Amino acid sequence: MHHGVRRMNGVEIIEVGARDGLQNEPDILPTEKKVALIQAAIAAGVRRIETASFVNPRRVPQMADAEAVMEALPDSDKVTYIGLVLNERGAERALATRVHELGAVAVASDSFAMRNQGQTSFESIGIANAIVGMAKAAGRSGQVTISAAFGCPFEGEIDPDHVVAMAEALAKAGPREIGLADTIGVAVPSQVKALVTRVQAVIGNIPIRAHFHNTRNTGLANAWAAYEAGAVTLDSSLGGLGGCPFAPKATGNIPTEDLLYLLHRSGVATGIDLDAMIEAGQWLTGIMGRPLPAMVTKAGNFPPQTALA
Ligand code: ZN
Repeated sequence: MHHGVRRMNGVEIIEVGARDGLQNEPDILPTEKKVALIQAAIAAGVRRIETASFVNPRRVPQMADAEAVMEALPDSDKVTYIGLVLNERGAERALATRVHELGAVAVASDSFAMRNQGQTSFESIGIANAIVGMAKAAGRSGQVTISAAFGCPFEGEIDPDHVVAMAEALAKAGPREIGLADTIGVAVPSQVKALVTRVQAVIGNIPIRAHFHNTRNTGLANAWAAYEAGAVTLDSSLGGLGGCPFAPKATGNIPTEDLLYLLHRSGVATGIDLDAMIEAGQWLTGIMGRPLPAMVTKAGNFPPQTALA
């Protein structure tokens, strides 16, 4: 029996390319190109998008134009713009923009929490709950991601009991959802299935989102395992852009195009037009000036959408 909230025939995709994807790029993409990326995703049918990160611009210069990006985006009541924030100061900045939702981050290990956001793991829980509270008080929504939930770049294995306890503590603030992130791409499907199942059991009707990086080529398998275990939302980035400036050797998010192909061919609807995303991925490849990890964008959709006769 499934706990809670599974929608039977679909999964929601959050496009994170404009934030997680770009923040580890050595070159800073101009604001108008970020906006174009987000608009391409909206045009393809994406309805929740990570648009910016309200973090210290000296630490993450790629995200220094967060306010400008938000200013340039179209008003829409159909699309949810998500701003990543790591502390109350970031939340205040984000709430001064038209962002619909704050994404807070609690980190499963002390070493990674300290490097990523200058907090202990325990402190990050309290701060994430405060951020969710600030979002709600401002009439927006707030959610939280447990980062390094499947492994830490500095401490190695993460005790799943710790992640489950964190989820329970985070659920008390009533976030829109709780995300489980494999920030450094070490998870495998059996581990994903076990953790999603255990976390869902302690957070009641709060939905689970899953976030995978493809560092060891297990990302799509993990996404499928998370879906089967009851996760209702998956993060991915156009082209498979991505990384993390504070996680050594972390590589891209799972590619949106490849994830859509896997889901659609498996009968799982997303509401997103894969061919439009492939086109957007080809455009982004040109912007970045190098091949991106997404494989469906190179190989093409199947069956071919244009008759060959
Ligand atoms: Zn990530």
